[in-house]
Amino acid sequence: MENMNELYSDIILEHNQCQENKHPLDQANLQEHGHNPSCGDDITLQADIQDGIIKDAAYTGHGCAISQASADIMIDLIKGKSVEEALRLVDLFLDMIKREVTDDDELEELEDAIALKNISNMPARVKCAVLAWHTLKEALERDQK
Ligand SMILES: [Zn+2]
Repeated sequence: MENMNELYSDIILEHNQCQENKHPLDQANLQEHGHNPSCGDDITLQADIQDGIIKDAAYTGHGCAISQASADIMIDLIKGKSVEEALRLVDLFLDMIKREVTDDDELEELEDAIALKNISNMPARVKCAVLAWHTLKEALERDQK
């Protein structure tokens, strides 16, 4: 179990340092700002959605390692997916953080986001972990109306 936690923190560290998804998008038709006052995390998500598919997505902003890693992981996961599928994965992630879904087989499709599972044991960091996901959900749901 200890090795498992170590592996997970490596994944978070790696995504925190990754700058691949951290840039403004030239072409975006979806933009949403997210702020977590309890930690100071502040991100802006952008996406280019064509025919219901998330063709591209990226974020800018600043915050703690968890918030930045979580945004990077989420963008890796949702890029190329349909809006419907992305919303389903966001809900699965939020259910994992709320510990409503704990089965690893079921969580497997979250890919690297499963590394954030243990954040639910650290209540102070939960808002950091869910910031990007809540921000995306809000933007997509508003867009669908
Ligand atoms: Zn934070």
